[in-house]
Amino acid sequence: MTVSDTRFVHVGRTVANWGDAVVEPIVLATTFLRAADGSYPSGYEYARDGNPNRAYLERAMANLEGGVEAAAFASGMAAALAIFQTLRPGDHVVVSDDCYFGVREALQHDFTRWGLDISFVDATNLDAVAICTRRNTRVLFVETPSNPFLRVCDIAALANIAHSCHAVLVCDNSLATPVFQNPLLLGADFVVHSTTKYINGHHDAQGGIVVSRESSERWESIVRLQKTLGAVPSPFNCWLSSRGLPSLPCRVRQQSASASVIASHLDKHRLVDRVLYPGLASNASHQVAIGQMSGFGSVFSFLVSGGGTEAKIVTAASRLLLQATSFGGAESLIEHRASVEGAGTNVPQNLIRVAIGLEDVNDVIEDLDRALHAIQ
Ligand SMILES: *Cc1c(COP(=O)(O)O)cnc(C)c1O
Repeated sequence: MTVSDTRFVHVGRTVANWGDAVVEPIVLATTFLRAADGSYPSGYEYARDGNPNRAYLERAMANLEGGVEAAAFASGMAAALAIFQTLRPGDHVVVSDDCYFGVREALQHDFTRWGLDISFVDATNLDAVAICTRRNTRVLFVETPSNPFLRVCDIAALANIAHSCHAVLVCDNSLATPVFQNPLLLGADFVVHSTTKYINGHHDAQGGIVVSRESSERWESIVRLQKTLGAVPSPFNCWLSSRGLPSLPCRVRQQSASASVIASHLDKHRLVDRVLYPGLASNASHQVAIGQMSGFGSVFSFLVSGGGTEAKIVTAASRLLLQATSFGGAESLIEHRASVEGAGTNVPQNLIRVAIGLEDVNDVIEDLDRALHAIQ
């Protein structure tokens, strides 16, 4: 006797009782049941439009950033660029000149072709930002702290400038995390994250998110773009990203404490010309950072004595710090930033970017000292 195909399809199916699990289950379903009257009792219809794991991540991030709603994307790039996709040809935007290089390149190469008018500006210079704004400026987009230069711009002051010309302020908060900085509470209208970094926290899921301070037409259009353009994260990646949230405060405080010690150590090192880290009292951004952040994060850069050759020798000589891009996970990473960004980079050849992980701080210092020793 053969088993009917119908049984293969329906075997084992239970009602949605997941054994009262303490953590969220992963719901991989791409489609959800309608009731007899055609409604969707679960609130979900089709996975691209929404699913339980994405909704959980969005609710959590909206709450943690002090916003009303959030929209998760397949990457930080997709999240950041969704903001610009709400604009029309001829609209003008002001963008900080040291924002994430991928965003800068996409705007220059692709969005200008669609008629977007872009001014890049040093966002730490408020007068320069104000001079750039025009009647048709719609968006002021900044990243603070920026990377790899770790400049901090004044979010509250920039929100005033944006609002005085009826533009919105968008703040990429990937480096600070909602643990150390809440741009929406300082007046920003949207926060963007690459959740690939600290939110996920384990170097194992790509993702991005936009959080909105209030409902608005622009927010509605971001949500529409999320669903129609379809650059959405999988349920599994949403699950991996929200899995990082409970440990986020512990992780970033520990990483930031280690980064402070290591940055101070390198600041005194004879083979290091300069350390770029807002946590150092001598840093040009230190005062602004103290005013709006409760911690400085664990990414910093340093200029090694010499040029690109010396910087590459140091990154290749490190052992504990893995030679790879990104930040936010348990593993400390080191990179020669100019060669990651490639042609068109504005990063000096002797700049090394470091992301401190969760190893013992003394082991990281020992590894960096040994790596630096390779150039003398
Ligand atoms: C990594 C990063 C992005 C891009 O995010 P992806 O997830 O790699 O697409 C955007 N902004 C900042 C500050 C980043 O560090």
